[in-house]
Amino acid sequence: VVQADQVRKIFDGHPILRGISLTVARGELVSIIGPSGCGKSTFLRCLNFLEVPDSGTVSMAGVTIARAGGRWSRADEESAHRLRAHVGMVFQSFNLFPHRTVLDNVMMAPIRVKRLGVAEARQDALALLEKVGLSAIAARYPDTLSGGQQQRAAIARALAMRPDVMLYDEPTSALDPELAEEVLSVMRTLDAEGMTQIVVTHDMRFARAASDRVVFMEGGEIVEMDDPDTLFVAPQDMRTRRFLRSVL
Ligand code: ATP
Ligand code: MG
Repeated sequence: VVQADQVRKIFDGHPILRGISLTVARGELVSIIGPSGCGKSTFLRCLNFLEVPDSGTVSMAGVTIARAGGRWSRADEESAHRLRAHVGMVFQSFNLFPHRTVLDNVMMAPIRVKRLGVAEARQDALALLEKVGLSAIAARYPDTLSGGQQQRAAIARALAMRPDVMLYDEPTSALDPELAEEVLSVMRTLDAEGMTQIVVTHDMRFARAASDRVVFMEGGEIVEMDDPDTLFVAPQDMRTRRFLRSVL
């Protein structure tokens, strides 16, 4: 479902992504780990064109966008828009609309973007809130929720668009371990249901326990990727070993 080929990005003359290629199969949960500043967030943002790669190709959800320098045209933006409609993104900060209830937060995009009827959107939203364990607080406002609840609401909101792929950028970094666990457990449930997920994380325990594959990045490159048991137990590259020693 997801294919990135030779994605490159330069910021202010500095190469930040040096040709990243990654293929993710349907239903896979792939974790991306690596030192601060190595380009993890930039890569994730390039996947849904929140950041426009300088070159490289990204295919997702039936949309392919190839870049080879040149300007970003209106047609490119339209392709990116189509691609994003099938991709859910969850950030470290929960980004809920503060003046809307949890339920409204989840209902809003399907009504506006997909022109879903209110009754149907409400029914969908309630089912999703049930799935993430928030049915009881659907009528509350985001600032009355714990961080873990807010993040689960953000996941439900992304799921309301029926995405083919979910992208997460450190979804639990702002949370206490206990609240992080609630969020991680939702991601495990989605994995069991066959959702395709790419997760940038500092949580090595989750990366090891829940991922089908772990990608280690350093200096704007993928150094190594493997199944978690191999990558954490018997990493092949010196740089991976050094990084794991520093964080485990
Ligand atoms: P962290 O683990 O701290 O979140 P990261 O791996 O996600 O780090 P990125 O946020 O992708 O790293 O940043 C990679 C590099 O690109 C950093 O040196 C950062 O300063 C730089 N960078 C990111 N965004 C921009 C931007 N919009 N303009 C200029 N430089 C940027
Ligand atoms: Mg980051």
